[in-house]
Order: sequence, then C-alpha cells, then structure tokens
Amino acid sequence: QNVIKILCAHGVPEEMKKRLAEIGQVFSLNSHDEVEIKEAIRDKHVFVVRSKPRVTRDIIESASQLKVVARPGVGIDNIDQEACREKGIRIINTPEASTSSVAELTIGLAIALLRRIYYGCNLLKRGEWVKGKCTGRTIEGKTWGVIGFGGIGRRVAELVKAFGAEVYAYDPYVEEGVFVEKGVRRALSLNELLAKSDIVSLHVVLNQETENMISEEAISKMKRGAYLINTSRGKVVDQKALYQALLSGQLGGVALDVYDTEPPTDQELLGLENVICTPHIGGNTEEVFVRATDILIVKLKEVLGL
Ligand code: NAD
Repeated sequence: QNVIKILCAHGVPEEMKKRLAEIGQVFSLNSHDEVEIKEAIRDKHVFVVRSKPRVTRDIIESASQLKVVARPGVGIDNIDQEACREKGIRIINTPEASTSSVAELTIGLAIALLRRIYYGCNLLKRGEWVKGKCTGRTIEGKTWGVIGFGGIGRRVAELVKAFGAEVYAYDPYVEEGVFVEKGVRRALSLNELLAKSDIVSLHVVLNQETENMISEEAISKMKRGAYLINTSRGKVVDQKALYQALLSGQLGGVALDVYDTEPPTDQELLGLENVICTPHIGGNTEEVFVRATDILIVKLKEVLGL
C-alpha cells in the first residue's frame, strides 16, 4: 500500500506530529526556507503548516504528489489558494476548534467590564479598598445583541441566555430557523440590534461588508451607555470612533481582544478606565490545541479517503 507522506512545517508541535503518525509517515522541516521546502515537498502528499511559512505558488508547483495543505487553526492567508485550486489541492483548517474558547472569553470580558473587575483589582493591589467606585451591572435582565450568528455567535447566545439575558442576533446570512432553534430574537437590521441592546458583542468574519461596521454612525444608534465587546477582528470597529464615544459617555465601556493593528498602538484608547483589553487570546487555550489536532486528523482521513 502507498504510505501517506506528511511534511510538517517548522513550528508544528511535536504532540501534533505524534498524532499525525496515525495517518502516515511524518517528516519535519527545520526552517521556513523556501528552497528547503521545495526540495522536501516533492514526494509528499500532505503539507501541515501554521500561520507560517508562506505556501507560495512556487512551492505548490514543485509538489507533484500534494493532495492537501492542512492548517490547524483558522487563518489561511499564508497559503496561495488560487494555486492550490488550480492543481486540485485541498486546503483544510479547523476554525471549529476555538468556538467555545472565544465564546467563553467574550463572556469573561463582559463580566470583567460590567463588574469593573480589573479596576477594583488594580485599586486593591495598590492598597485602596474603594467599593463605591466598583459598582457594577448584571447581565441578568439585560438585552444582549450578538452580531454575526455563526459558530461563536451561537455559543455566546447559549451562554448569555443562561445568565437570564434576552438575546437578539443579527446575521442576514443565517436562516430564520436557526434563530428559532437557538431561542434568540432575530434582528432584521443592524440598526435594530444596536438600538435594542445593552451589551453588543461582535462575531462576524472580516470582509468588505463588515469592515468598519461599527462606525461612528453605528455607535450613535446604540443605547446611551451600552457596552461593546469585540473578539472578532479589529477592523470591524472604527477605533477612533470608540474613543470619542467613550469620552462622551455614548458607550459605557468597551472590551477588546482584537485591534485594527496588532499589537495595538492606540494607547489613548487602551488607557481609558472603562476599556479592558486582552492580547488576541480568544483562541489561546490548551483545549483549542487538542481539539484542533483531533479535528485535523478527522478531516485529513476524510479527504484522503482513509
Ligand atoms: P463563522 O464563519 O462561523 O461565523 C461568522 C458569521 O458572520 C457567519 O454566520 C456570517 O453569516 C456572519 N456575517 C458575515 N457577514 C455579516 C454581516 N455583514 N452582518 C452580520 N453577520 C455577518 O465564524 P466564527 O468561527 O464564529 O468566528 C467569528 C469571528 O471570530 C471571526 O471574525 C473570527 O476571525 C473571529 N475569531 C477570533 C478569535 C480570537 O482569538 N479572538 C479566534 C477565532 C475566531
């Protein structure tokens, strides 16, 4: 029988390589050097990469046996998708692996923001016991607006409902039945969702339509003092508009995991007391890594007909 030969890019963790050995013979690269990759990939059937190296047309064209480029994780911008398509090479990734982790971070950020956890914690670490400055808000009884009702948006909705909030979701590409099944109200427009929600969380993909979706104008449609949480992509939000809205009190607080440039340079915004921020850690859990490996193995077997 033909053995499946799997080439792992530099940086693919050892644990993952061990699991890939269930499928075939595993080979490892020690650098992202393109010449080295082109040489090694000649007789391989699978190329496993992370956000690096760049899988160029040149690499694809020197891989005469290649069937699959596998990316444990989400982003596939480093892979020349056009070149793969032309040669009938499949690209697989594992966006499902991080769904719960991102959803849980969203809830964590919301609670931290509404209960002023960081603020109180920082005061206390400096020796200040000031309960009066730490009066918060509950999620219970609020209206929570989910923008983008895909994997993460749906999980957030499930979790938020358990807190006793009413959930609205806006996603023009999701069928009516899904909203009904998940027990959330469907907002028919972005403005409707913004006008109704006390807390808004963003879970859209970044594309031409969603870039700058939360603009100055969109923020002006929100309830005064509402909270905004972004764990999707930084460019969905106009960060300058956020800053102004926080200063004016139009927004009560903002929690960000993602930024228009990463790392962010917007210290003015991040320095505000009612802004909390994390360094793009939505998918950063031990469980995501294990799940990504499991999902990758299942998908590889399927694509390779094993
Ligand atoms: P998904 O593809 O399952 O869901 C995205 C949803 O956005 C889809 O249902 C789609 O219909 C909807 N959408 C597209 N255009 C829209 C529009 N104009 N208005 C409203 N909805 C629209 O993706 P997902 O796995 O749920 O991921 C959601 C977001 O989270 C993505 O931006 C992803 O990059 C991000 N993400 C962040 C982290 C992190 O570390 N913070 C980790 C993983 C994913």
